[in-house]
Amino acid sequence: MSDPTGVRPWRDIERRQTRQISVGDVKVGGGAPITVQSMTNTPTTDVAGTVEQIRRLEDAGADIVRVSCPDQESSAALKDIVRQVNIPIVADIHFHYRRGIEAAQNGAACLRINPGNIGSRSRVKEVVQAAKDHGCSMRIGVNAGSLERHLLEKYGEPCPDAMVESALNQARVLEEEDFFNFKISCKASDVFMASAAYMQLAEQCDHPFHLGITEAGGQRSGTIKSAIGLGNLLWAGIGDTLRVSLSADPVEEIKVGYDILKSLGLRHRGVNVVSCPSCAREQFDVINTVKVLEERLSHITTPMTVSVIGCVVNGPGEALMTDVGFTGGGRGTHQVYVGGMPSHRLKDEDIVDHLVRQVEEKAEEIEAKRKAEAELQAQTEEAPSAAE
Ligand code: SF4
Repeated sequence: MSDPTGVRPWRDIERRQTRQISVGDVKVGGGAPITVQSMTNTPTTDVAGTVEQIRRLEDAGADIVRVSCPDQESSAALKDIVRQVNIPIVADIHFHYRRGIEAAQNGAACLRINPGNIGSRSRVKEVVQAAKDHGCSMRIGVNAGSLERHLLEKYGEPCPDAMVESALNQARVLEEEDFFNFKISCKASDVFMASAAYMQLAEQCDHPFHLGITEAGGQRSGTIKSAIGLGNLLWAGIGDTLRVSLSADPVEEIKVGYDILKSLGLRHRGVNVVSCPSCAREQFDVINTVKVLEERLSHITTPMTVSVIGCVVNGPGEALMTDVGFTGGGRGTHQVYVGGMPSHRLKDEDIVDHLVRQVEEKAEEIEAKRKAEAELQAQTEEAPSAAE
Protein backbone atom coordinates (compact mmCIF):
# COMPACT_ATOMS: atom_id res chain seq x y z
CA MET A 1 0.00 0.00 0.00
CA SER A 2 1.62 3.27 -1.01
CA ASP A 3 -0.34 5.42 1.44
CA PRO A 4 0.09 3.65 4.75
CA THR A 5 -2.24 6.11 6.50
CA GLY A 6 -5.15 4.81 4.43
CA VAL A 7 -6.58 8.30 4.14
CA ARG A 8 -5.92 8.48 0.38
CA PRO A 9 -7.25 5.18 -0.94
CA TRP A 10 -6.80 6.25 -4.56
CA ARG A 11 -3.07 5.93 -3.99
CA ASP A 12 -3.21 2.35 -2.72
CA ILE A 13 -1.23 -0.28 -4.55
CA GLU A 14 -1.70 -3.81 -3.32
CA ARG A 15 1.49 -5.67 -4.02
CA ARG A 16 1.46 -9.22 -5.34
CA GLN A 17 2.33 -11.73 -2.63
CA THR A 18 5.50 -13.61 -3.44
CA ARG A 19 8.12 -15.76 -1.83
CA GLN A 20 11.05 -13.85 -0.42
CA ILE A 21 14.60 -14.47 -1.58
CA SER A 22 17.95 -13.05 -0.48
CA VAL A 23 20.45 -11.35 -2.74
CA GLY A 24 23.28 -11.06 -0.25
CA ASP A 25 21.71 -9.18 2.63
CA VAL A 26 19.08 -7.54 0.41
CA LYS A 27 15.64 -9.13 0.54
CA VAL A 28 13.63 -9.36 -2.67
CA GLY A 29 9.90 -10.14 -2.67
CA GLY A 30 7.68 -11.13 0.23
CA GLY A 31 6.78 -7.51 0.97
CA ALA A 32 10.38 -6.21 1.04
CA PRO A 33 10.89 -2.70 -0.39
CA ILE A 34 11.23 -2.73 -4.18
CA THR A 35 14.93 -2.57 -4.95
CA VAL A 36 16.70 -0.69 -7.74
CA GLN A 37 19.53 -2.23 -9.73
CA SER A 38 21.90 -1.37 -12.49
CA MET A 39 24.73 -3.07 -14.34
CA THR A 40 28.32 -2.03 -14.84
CA ASN A 41 29.57 -1.35 -18.36
CA THR A 42 33.29 -1.48 -17.60
CA PRO A 43 35.33 -4.57 -18.52
CA THR A 44 34.97 -6.77 -15.42
CA THR A 45 38.69 -7.58 -15.62
CA ASP A 46 39.34 -3.87 -14.97
CA VAL A 47 38.83 -4.31 -11.24
CA ALA A 48 39.63 -0.69 -10.26
CA GLY A 49 37.34 0.77 -12.94
CA THR A 50 34.51 -1.62 -12.09
CA VAL A 51 34.80 -0.96 -8.35
CA GLU A 52 34.78 2.78 -9.01
CA GLN A 53 31.60 2.47 -11.08
CA ILE A 54 29.89 0.25 -8.50
CA ARG A 55 30.68 2.83 -5.81
CA ARG A 56 29.16 5.60 -7.93
CA LEU A 57 26.06 3.44 -8.34
CA GLU A 58 26.00 2.78 -4.61
CA ASP A 59 26.21 6.53 -3.93
CA ALA A 60 23.28 7.07 -6.30
CA GLY A 61 21.23 4.60 -4.22
CA ALA A 62 21.67 1.27 -6.05
CA ASP A 63 20.65 -1.68 -3.89
CA ILE A 64 22.17 -4.35 -6.11
CA VAL A 65 24.63 -4.20 -9.05
CA ARG A 66 25.13 -6.74 -11.83
CA VAL A 67 28.48 -7.47 -13.42
CA SER A 68 29.10 -9.49 -16.60
CA CYS A 69 31.20 -12.63 -16.40
CA PRO A 70 31.82 -13.55 -20.03
CA ASP A 71 35.09 -15.42 -19.38
CA GLN A 72 37.15 -17.04 -16.66
CA GLU A 73 39.25 -13.91 -16.09
CA SER A 74 36.06 -11.98 -15.33
CA SER A 75 34.66 -14.50 -12.87
CA ALA A 76 38.10 -14.53 -11.20
CA ALA A 77 38.10 -10.71 -11.00
CA LEU A 78 34.80 -10.91 -9.16
CA LYS A 79 36.62 -12.00 -6.02
CA ASP A 80 38.57 -8.72 -5.81
CA ILE A 81 35.55 -6.64 -6.79
CA VAL A 82 33.21 -8.12 -4.20
CA ARG A 83 35.75 -7.50 -1.46
CA GLN A 84 35.88 -3.78 -2.20
CA VAL A 85 32.19 -2.90 -2.40
CA ASN A 86 29.32 -2.83 0.08
CA ILE A 87 26.38 -3.97 -2.03
CA PRO A 88 25.46 -7.40 -3.36
CA ILE A 89 26.86 -8.27 -6.77
CA VAL A 90 24.97 -10.32 -9.34
CA ALA A 91 27.10 -12.24 -11.84
CA ASP A 92 25.70 -12.23 -15.35
CA ILE A 93 26.32 -15.64 -16.90
CA HIS A 94 25.39 -16.89 -20.35
CA PHE A 95 25.84 -20.49 -21.47
CA HIS A 96 29.04 -21.38 -19.56
CA TYR A 97 27.97 -23.21 -16.44
CA ARG A 98 31.57 -23.16 -15.14
CA ARG A 99 31.42 -19.34 -14.97
CA GLY A 100 28.39 -19.71 -12.74
CA ILE A 101 30.19 -22.05 -10.37
CA GLU A 102 33.25 -19.79 -10.29
CA ALA A 103 31.12 -16.70 -9.68
CA ALA A 104 29.34 -18.39 -6.74
CA GLN A 105 32.71 -19.43 -5.30
CA ASN A 106 34.08 -15.92 -5.77
CA GLY A 107 31.41 -14.11 -3.80
CA ALA A 108 28.55 -13.34 -6.20
CA ALA A 109 25.31 -12.85 -4.25
CA CYS A 110 23.20 -13.95 -7.21
CA LEU A 111 23.70 -15.62 -10.58
CA ARG A 112 21.75 -14.40 -13.55
CA ILE A 113 21.74 -17.68 -15.41
CA ASN A 114 19.20 -19.63 -17.40
CA PRO A 115 19.22 -23.30 -16.49
CA GLY A 116 17.78 -24.01 -19.94
CA ASN A 117 20.96 -22.63 -21.53
CA ILE A 118 23.65 -24.49 -19.69
CA GLY A 119 23.19 -27.97 -21.06
CA SER A 120 22.72 -31.26 -19.25
CA ARG A 121 20.92 -31.78 -15.96
CA SER A 122 24.20 -32.74 -14.29
CA ARG A 123 25.58 -29.26 -15.08
CA VAL A 124 22.47 -27.66 -13.66
CA LYS A 125 22.93 -29.74 -10.52
CA GLU A 126 26.52 -28.54 -10.19
CA VAL A 127 25.57 -24.88 -10.52
CA VAL A 128 22.69 -25.26 -8.07
CA GLN A 129 24.98 -27.01 -5.60
CA ALA A 130 27.53 -24.18 -5.88
CA ALA A 131 24.74 -21.64 -5.30
CA LYS A 132 23.51 -23.55 -2.25
CA ASP A 133 27.03 -23.96 -0.86
CA HIS A 134 27.76 -20.24 -1.14
CA GLY A 135 24.39 -18.76 -0.18
CA CYS A 136 23.88 -17.46 -3.70
CA SER A 137 20.47 -16.78 -5.23
CA MET A 138 19.65 -16.90 -8.94
CA ARG A 139 17.69 -15.00 -11.53
CA ILE A 140 16.08 -16.75 -14.44
CA GLY A 141 16.29 -14.12 -17.16
CA VAL A 142 13.83 -14.77 -19.97
CA ASN A 143 14.36 -12.42 -22.89
CA ALA A 144 12.06 -12.17 -25.91
CA GLY A 145 15.14 -11.86 -28.11
CA SER A 146 16.70 -15.14 -27.05
CA LEU A 147 13.86 -17.61 -26.59
CA GLU A 148 14.50 -21.33 -27.02
CA ARG A 149 14.18 -22.58 -30.57
CA HIS A 150 11.39 -25.07 -29.78
CA LEU A 151 9.26 -22.26 -28.31
CA LEU A 152 9.80 -20.06 -31.36
CA GLU A 153 8.74 -22.98 -33.55
CA LYS A 154 5.69 -23.65 -31.38
CA TYR A 155 4.52 -20.01 -31.19
CA GLY A 156 5.87 -18.72 -34.52
CA GLU A 157 7.45 -15.60 -33.02
CA PRO A 158 8.40 -14.16 -29.62
CA CYS A 159 5.20 -13.56 -27.64
CA PRO A 160 4.07 -13.42 -23.99
CA ASP A 161 2.88 -17.07 -24.02
CA ALA A 162 6.28 -18.26 -25.21
CA MET A 163 8.06 -16.16 -22.59
CA VAL A 164 5.85 -17.46 -19.80
CA GLU A 165 6.34 -21.05 -20.93
CA SER A 166 10.11 -20.53 -20.99
CA ALA A 167 10.07 -18.99 -17.51
CA LEU A 168 7.94 -21.78 -16.03
CA ASN A 169 10.02 -24.53 -17.67
CA GLN A 170 13.20 -23.06 -16.24
CA ALA A 171 11.66 -22.47 -12.83
CA ARG A 172 10.64 -26.11 -12.76
CA VAL A 173 14.22 -27.21 -13.39
CA LEU A 174 15.39 -25.30 -10.30
CA GLU A 175 12.42 -26.44 -8.22
CA GLU A 176 13.19 -30.05 -9.10
CA GLU A 177 16.65 -29.45 -7.65
CA ASP A 178 14.93 -28.22 -4.49
CA PHE A 179 16.16 -24.69 -5.16
CA PHE A 180 13.72 -21.85 -4.52
CA ASN A 181 16.05 -18.92 -3.86
CA PHE A 182 15.44 -17.37 -7.27
CA LYS A 183 13.57 -14.59 -9.02
CA ILE A 184 12.41 -14.34 -12.60
CA SER A 185 12.55 -11.65 -15.26
CA CYS A 186 10.60 -11.66 -18.53
CA LYS A 187 12.10 -8.83 -20.52
CA ALA A 188 11.29 -7.54 -23.98
CA SER A 189 12.06 -4.25 -25.68
CA ASP A 190 8.38 -4.11 -26.62
CA VAL A 191 6.44 -2.60 -23.72
CA PHE A 192 3.24 -4.52 -24.52
CA MET A 193 4.99 -7.87 -24.73
CA ALA A 194 6.98 -7.44 -21.53
CA SER A 195 3.94 -6.22 -19.58
CA ALA A 196 1.71 -9.03 -20.82
CA ALA A 197 4.37 -11.66 -20.05
CA TYR A 198 4.86 -10.44 -16.48
CA MET A 199 1.11 -10.16 -15.92
CA GLN A 200 0.47 -13.70 -17.18
CA LEU A 201 3.39 -15.13 -15.22
CA ALA A 202 2.16 -13.42 -12.06
CA GLU A 203 -0.99 -15.54 -12.29
CA GLN A 204 0.97 -18.76 -12.48
CA CYS A 205 3.69 -18.65 -9.84
CA ASP A 206 4.70 -16.96 -6.62
CA HIS A 207 8.36 -16.32 -7.40
CA PRO A 208 9.51 -12.71 -7.02
CA PHE A 209 10.01 -10.71 -10.22
CA HIS A 210 12.88 -8.60 -11.47
CA LEU A 211 11.28 -6.08 -13.83
CA GLY A 212 12.83 -4.57 -16.90
CA ILE A 213 12.13 -3.29 -20.39
CA THR A 214 15.23 -4.49 -22.16
CA GLU A 215 17.20 -2.43 -24.69
CA ALA A 216 14.81 0.42 -23.93
CA GLY A 217 16.90 3.00 -25.81
CA GLY A 218 18.69 6.24 -25.01
CA GLN A 219 18.16 8.32 -21.92
CA ARG A 220 14.96 10.09 -22.92
CA SER A 221 13.17 7.41 -24.95
CA GLY A 222 14.35 4.62 -22.63
CA THR A 223 13.12 6.51 -19.60
CA ILE A 224 9.71 6.97 -21.15
CA LYS A 225 9.39 3.34 -22.26
CA SER A 226 10.50 2.12 -18.84
CA ALA A 227 8.16 4.47 -17.03
CA ILE A 228 5.23 3.20 -19.07
CA GLY A 229 6.15 -0.50 -18.97
CA LEU A 230 7.42 -0.76 -15.41
CA GLY A 231 4.97 1.84 -14.15
CA ASN A 232 2.04 -0.16 -15.49
CA LEU A 233 3.25 -3.34 -13.78
CA LEU A 234 4.19 -1.67 -10.50
CA TRP A 235 0.85 0.08 -10.39
CA ALA A 236 -0.78 -3.35 -10.72
CA GLY A 237 1.30 -4.49 -7.73
CA ILE A 238 3.74 -6.57 -9.79
CA GLY A 239 7.50 -6.30 -9.34
CA ASP A 240 9.97 -6.78 -6.51
CA THR A 241 13.18 -5.39 -7.95
CA LEU A 242 13.85 -3.50 -11.17
CA ARG A 243 16.44 -2.38 -13.61
CA VAL A 244 15.92 0.43 -16.08
CA SER A 245 18.05 -0.31 -19.18
CA LEU A 246 19.37 2.85 -20.81
CA SER A 247 22.08 3.48 -23.36
CA ALA A 248 23.48 6.01 -20.90
CA ASP A 249 25.59 6.29 -17.75
CA PRO A 250 24.34 3.48 -15.43
CA VAL A 251 23.91 6.07 -12.67
CA GLU A 252 21.03 7.47 -14.74
CA GLU A 253 19.36 4.05 -14.58
CA ILE A 254 19.31 4.25 -10.80
CA LYS A 255 17.93 7.80 -10.82
CA VAL A 256 15.17 6.85 -13.27
CA GLY A 257 14.36 3.67 -11.28
CA TYR A 258 13.85 5.70 -8.14
CA ASP A 259 11.84 8.32 -9.97
CA ILE A 260 9.45 5.65 -11.25
CA LEU A 261 9.03 4.25 -7.73
CA LYS A 262 8.66 7.74 -6.27
CA SER A 263 5.95 8.62 -8.79
CA LEU A 264 3.92 5.67 -7.55
CA GLY A 265 4.69 6.28 -3.89
CA LEU A 266 6.28 2.83 -3.70
CA ARG A 267 9.64 3.95 -2.42
CA HIS A 268 11.18 7.26 -1.59
CA ARG A 269 14.78 8.30 -1.56
CA GLY A 270 15.85 11.89 -1.57
CA VAL A 271 13.90 14.93 -2.64
CA ASN A 272 10.81 14.67 -4.79
CA VAL A 273 10.53 18.08 -6.46
CA VAL A 274 7.09 19.32 -7.46
CA SER A 275 7.47 22.28 -9.81
CA CYS A 276 5.37 24.10 -12.38
CA PRO A 277 6.33 24.51 -16.04
CA SER A 278 6.27 28.35 -15.59
CA CYS A 279 4.43 30.89 -17.72
CA ALA A 280 3.97 34.65 -18.00
CA ARG A 281 2.71 34.75 -14.41
CA GLU A 282 5.94 33.46 -12.89
CA GLN A 283 7.46 35.73 -10.24
CA PHE A 284 10.97 34.24 -10.49
CA ASP A 285 12.91 32.10 -12.96
CA VAL A 286 11.27 28.73 -12.19
CA ILE A 287 13.10 26.63 -14.77
CA ASN A 288 16.64 27.66 -13.81
CA THR A 289 15.85 27.64 -10.10
CA VAL A 290 14.61 24.04 -10.29
CA LYS A 291 17.55 22.97 -12.45
CA VAL A 292 20.14 24.29 -9.96
CA LEU A 293 18.10 23.25 -6.93
CA GLU A 294 17.80 19.60 -8.00
CA GLU A 295 21.56 19.46 -8.43
CA ARG A 296 22.22 21.15 -5.09
CA LEU A 297 19.81 18.78 -3.29
CA SER A 298 21.14 15.56 -4.81
CA HIS A 299 23.09 14.77 -1.60
CA ILE A 300 19.87 14.54 0.45
CA THR A 301 18.76 10.93 0.93
CA THR A 302 15.89 11.64 3.35
CA PRO A 303 12.57 11.05 1.60
CA MET A 304 10.87 14.44 1.33
CA THR A 305 8.85 16.59 -1.04
CA VAL A 306 9.69 20.16 -2.05
CA SER A 307 7.44 22.36 -4.18
CA VAL A 308 8.76 25.21 -6.29
CA ILE A 309 5.89 27.06 -7.94
CA GLY A 310 6.04 30.26 -9.96
CA CYS A 311 3.02 32.10 -8.61
CA VAL A 312 0.03 32.03 -6.28
CA VAL A 313 -2.24 30.31 -8.82
CA ASN A 314 -1.01 26.86 -7.74
CA GLY A 315 1.74 27.58 -5.20
CA PRO A 316 -0.20 27.63 -1.91
CA GLY A 317 -2.21 24.51 -2.80
CA GLU A 318 0.86 22.48 -3.76
CA ALA A 319 2.75 23.66 -0.67
CA LEU A 320 0.12 22.12 1.63
CA MET A 321 1.40 18.61 0.85
CA THR A 322 5.13 19.29 1.00
CA ASP A 323 7.92 19.38 3.57
CA VAL A 324 9.24 22.64 2.12
CA GLY A 325 7.27 24.80 -0.30
CA PHE A 326 8.09 27.92 -2.26
CA THR A 327 5.66 30.18 -4.11
CA GLY A 328 6.62 33.21 -6.17
CA GLY A 329 4.95 36.37 -4.89
CA GLY A 330 4.36 39.85 -6.34
CA ARG A 331 6.99 42.57 -6.04
CA GLY A 332 9.67 40.00 -5.19
CA THR A 333 8.03 38.87 -2.00
CA HIS A 334 8.01 35.11 -2.13
CA GLN A 335 6.36 32.79 0.36
CA VAL A 336 8.17 29.91 2.03
CA TYR A 337 6.19 27.02 3.57
CA VAL A 338 7.54 24.48 6.03
CA GLY A 339 5.65 21.31 6.91
CA GLY A 340 2.75 22.47 4.72
CA MET A 341 2.26 25.73 6.65
CA PRO A 342 3.21 29.30 5.64
CA SER A 343 6.50 30.02 7.41
CA HIS A 344 8.08 33.26 6.23
CA ARG A 345 8.61 35.61 3.29
CA LEU A 346 11.72 35.88 1.18
CA LYS A 347 12.65 39.08 -0.59
CA ASP A 348 16.28 39.76 -1.33
CA GLU A 349 18.07 36.56 -0.50
CA ASP A 350 19.18 34.08 -3.17
CA ILE A 351 16.28 31.64 -3.66
CA VAL A 352 18.36 28.50 -4.21
CA ASP A 353 20.70 29.15 -1.24
CA HIS A 354 17.71 29.79 0.98
CA LEU A 355 15.78 26.71 -0.13
CA VAL A 356 18.82 24.43 0.17
CA ARG A 357 19.21 25.59 3.78
CA GLN A 358 15.51 25.08 4.52
CA VAL A 359 15.53 21.58 3.02
CA GLU A 360 18.71 20.58 4.86
CA GLU A 361 17.24 21.75 8.17
CA LYS A 362 13.98 19.92 7.51
CA ALA A 363 15.87 16.76 6.52
CA GLU A 364 17.82 16.88 9.79
CA GLU A 365 14.58 17.30 11.71
CA ILE A 366 12.97 14.33 9.91
CA GLU A 367 16.04 12.14 10.54
CA ALA A 368 16.18 13.10 14.23
CA LYS A 369 12.49 12.26 14.60
CA ARG A 370 12.95 8.96 12.81
CA LYS A 371 15.93 8.08 15.03
CA ALA A 372 13.99 8.92 18.20
CA GLU A 373 11.06 6.77 17.04
CA ALA A 374 13.38 3.86 16.23
CA GLU A 375 15.02 4.11 19.67
CA LEU A 376 11.65 4.20 21.36
CA GLN A 377 10.52 1.15 19.44
CA ALA A 378 13.73 -0.72 20.30
CA GLN A 379 13.21 0.11 24.00
CA THR A 380 9.60 -1.08 23.81
CA GLU A 381 10.71 -4.36 22.21
CA GLU A 382 13.46 -4.87 24.81
CA ALA A 383 11.19 -4.13 27.78
CA PRO A 384 9.41 -7.52 28.08
CA SER A 385 12.65 -9.55 27.79
CA ALA A 386 14.33 -7.30 30.41
CA ALA A 387 11.49 -8.09 32.79
CA GLU A 388 11.92 -11.86 32.34
S1 SF4 B 1 1.87 28.12 -11.14
FE1 SF4 B 1 1.76 30.20 -11.90
S2 SF4 B 1 3.72 30.52 -12.92
FE2 SF4 B 1 3.51 28.35 -12.68
S3 SF4 B 1 2.61 27.69 -14.61
FE3 SF4 B 1 0.94 27.98 -13.16
S4 SF4 B 1 0.22 30.06 -13.52
FE4 SF4 B 1 2.27 29.88 -14.48
